[in-house]
Amino acid sequence: MEKDLTGKKFERLTVIKKDEDRKNHWICKCDCGNIVSVLDFYLIHGKTKSCGCYRADRARKHLESIRDITNKANKELSIDGTRISALTKSACSNSKTGVKGVIKVDGGKYTAAIKLRGKSKHLGTFDTIEEAKRARKEAEKVYYQPIIDKYKKMKENK
Ligand SMILES: [Zn+2]
Repeated sequence: MEKDLTGKKFERLTVIKKDEDRKNHWICKCDCGNIVSVLDFYLIHGKTKSCGCYRADRARKHLESIRDITNKANKELSIDGTRISALTKSACSNSKTGVKGVIKVDGGKYTAAIKLRGKSKHLGTFDTIEEAKRARKEAEKVYYQPIIDKYKKMKENK
């Protein structure tokens, strides 16, 4: 004997009628509007809860929550658009001079630059690496120190 499931609701699925073409299957309308044919066993035992949109929703929500966490972490690490981790790191591994922001250029001179809000700010061209280093250090004091102070304060207030 077969149960009549017509009109019954299983989570997102509402049973419309028996599927005449498939044994023990029922035509269901999902809350999202999709029509699906589902095996009665799956309906009754809650194995099928939707046309598939339920699982897709959950997958999407999961992705969104991961994105939220990442965004929050990024926000915490950057103030005024400048990444704190970038400020506190020492020389770039790809910096040939061994000094962050100082690059040797043609003619044996050195240029110094500082990164602000993801953009490089040129600090000038210098004859010696010492001068370039000094310019860079001064720029760090001017541009980075307030940001680092702000970051430290933010952490203390937590
Ligand atoms: Zn659906």
